[in-house]
Amino acid sequence: MEDFVKVTDIFGCDVFNDSVMQERLPKKVYKELKKTIEEGKELSMEVADVVAHEMKEWAIEKGATHYSHWFQPLTGVTAEKHDAFITAPMENGKVLMSFSGKELIKGEPDASSFPSGGLRATFEARGYTTWDCTSPAFVRHDAAGGTLCIPTAFCSYTGEALDQKTPLLRSMEAVNTQALRLIRLFGNHTSKKVTPSVGAEQEYFLIDKEKFKQRKDLVYTGRTLFGAMPPKGQEMDDHYLGTIRQRVSAYMKEVNEECWKLGVSAKTQHNEVAPAQHELAPIYAPVNIAADHNQIMMRILKKVASRQGMRCLLHEKPFAGVNGSGKHNNWSLTTDDGINLLDPGKTPHENVQFLLVLTCILKAVDEHADLLRESAADVGNDQRLGGHEAPPAVISVFLGEQLEDVLDQLISTGTATHSKSGEKMNTGVSTLPDFMKDATDRNRTSPFAFTGNKFEFRMVGSRDSISSCNVVLNTIAAEAFKEACDRLESAEDLELAVHDLIKEYATDHQRIVFSGNGYAPEWEAEAKRRGLPILPSMVDAIPALTTEKSIKLFENFRVFTRTELESRAEIQYEIYAKAINIEAKTMIDIVTKQIIPAVIRYTTVLADSINSVKAAGITDVSVQADLLKKTSKLLKTTNSAMNKLGKLVSQVESYPEGRERAVFFREKIVPAMDELRKPVDELEMIVDKEMWPMPSYGDLIFEV
Ligand code: ADP
Ligand code: MG
Repeated sequence: MEDFVKVTDIFGCDVFNDSVMQERLPKKVYKELKKTIEEGKELSMEVADVVAHEMKEWAIEKGATHYSHWFQPLTGVTAEKHDAFITAPMENGKVLMSFSGKELIKGEPDASSFPSGGLRATFEARGYTTWDCTSPAFVRHDAAGGTLCIPTAFCSYTGEALDQKTPLLRSMEAVNTQALRLIRLFGNHTSKKVTPSVGAEQEYFLIDKEKFKQRKDLVYTGRTLFGAMPPKGQEMDDHYLGTIRQRVSAYMKEVNEECWKLGVSAKTQHNEVAPAQHELAPIYAPVNIAADHNQIMMRILKKVASRQGMRCLLHEKPFAGVNGSGKHNNWSLTTDDGINLLDPGKTPHENVQFLLVLTCILKAVDEHADLLRESAADVGNDQRLGGHEAPPAVISVFLGEQLEDVLDQLISTGTATHSKSGEKMNTGVSTLPDFMKDATDRNRTSPFAFTGNKFEFRMVGSRDSISSCNVVLNTIAAEAFKEACDRLESAEDLELAVHDLIKEYATDHQRIVFSGNGYAPEWEAEAKRRGLPILPSMVDAIPALTTEKSIKLFENFRVFTRTELESRAEIQYEIYAKAINIEAKTMIDIVTKQIIPAVIRYTTVLADSINSVKAAGITDVSVQADLLKKTSKLLKTTNSAMNKLGKLVSQVESYPEGRERAVFFREKIVPAMDELRKPVDELEMIVDKEMWPMPSYGDLIFEV
């Protein structure tokens, strides 16, 4: 029991959280800072100086030598630049450790190497990071020693957002303002703030590090570009929630402890559907903190894996043929005094405020389905969405039997008189206790499902930041609440007006509700009939960012300006083109240097065998001869598919950067990559395993 840890002792021990602040800051300073955190009051430099000093003292006690503004540029990963606390040496040759309020509040990283989508020419390199005091600072320990990480937002010299966090914070303000208006209508004058809360369930794969290193595709692109299915896949469903193997348990233990120390409330862990696939979910938190925590969690997942001789794959589809990984984004709206606006209560038909919130969200999702789809667009996610395991690339909402029935009553008769309730669960075994069933079963195939008191957006990719989708959710909810309040605040008979509005929204936006099987091919045809946007790939989804509808939405709520949206679209196209380019080049590299030489060796062995068997006087060498013929044929197909891909890749530069180039990748290069993969995977099935130049799927996912 030597490495026994008490969770309550370590939880948050490396976080400059509220209790540390209360303990270490002078009362007045603490109060001022709380006002900034809770009410958004501007922070004075005097207060910042005191906070910085105490933060530094605390961090040094925790072993920190450096501080870093930690931010989330549009690369999809976090960025940081480390500065030591030391000052210039004094006359006696010694140094002091210092950290000022100015250094806490503002950083100035050279921004020219981060994607800006034309927002900032490289010669205008100035970018600023600004402290987001609503997300606590923490000390991170790794090979570089201890670093005080200060969560920050990242903007250009002219104030445009260059990161994921700035728009997220803006969208939180937007939805707060409008949701407060809405609850005031219903007589709530006590709640002061409405905050979107999010719990992001993180899926990942774990594989052996040595095997990982032998796969150049995994090393360069995060996913396998070749690989035949082993005889066994996930069809036995024996991995999902199965007993966790010792090696993986030890890993999860360390991941949890690292998360807890940084205040990340890692809670639920289990094996997922695919072999070698797992999941970790924290307890939900305000969305900006949830987004930061998810980044911290992803980093810990990778770091601990590496330390334990494994690799954690966060790619959306590391292996074809088995499930990919996503990040389920559970979203709700909660007041500062603990009221969840998405809680229907036992009798939703009587809960008018809930029904209004719900129908507003239906309207929001229906009107901006394209944007919500775009928010989950990610190169890796193109491999996952629409597969037989992940939500389709079409947005719809699952409400469940109970709520659908309430809305149906409203639509058909104008009033909802009852709510279906869960029945008593009877297992038929007298020793098992009876309990009440939920009013509704689950639907695993829906991209946006109501799950009791929250919506679960299941499209987000496992590697992606959760910021984008929550920016969209918060802003479209804000817009729907605003339109409802604009109408209701001026109504003569509020009760009647609310009732009519709920009915109107439920009727007008019924088409977005779908409770059938989202994986079924018929759904796409049905969705088309309903006029829902069908955007299979990232390239199809990106234009949603810059429609007039979207610009109006985001400008109205000051979440993005037109320029910011245009730049983001530009960046998305670039990211897509660059990622596929790397994949295509990696394929060519692997085929040229590994596959073709290995197959040639194998054909030589076959030919030699034919000759020596014949020389030994045996005339029937048909088995070897057939195999040789088959292999040579596939080798030829491989070679010409590779030449074709190579030729296409060499044409890339002739397409202007941005949409045109991305479309070329999507329409020409991606199919050519598929064409190259096919014969190679077939070869893998027939070539001697000893001669195949890399570990197989079986080696990778069944032998962790
Ligand atoms: P489910 O079984 O529906 O997936 P879980 O309890 O496992 O639900 O929760 C999944 C995630 O949703 C967790 O991260 C959890 O903290 C989060 N969650 C639970 N309730 C809420 C809520 N009201 N708002 C946002 N997230 C929530
Ligand atoms: Mg869930």
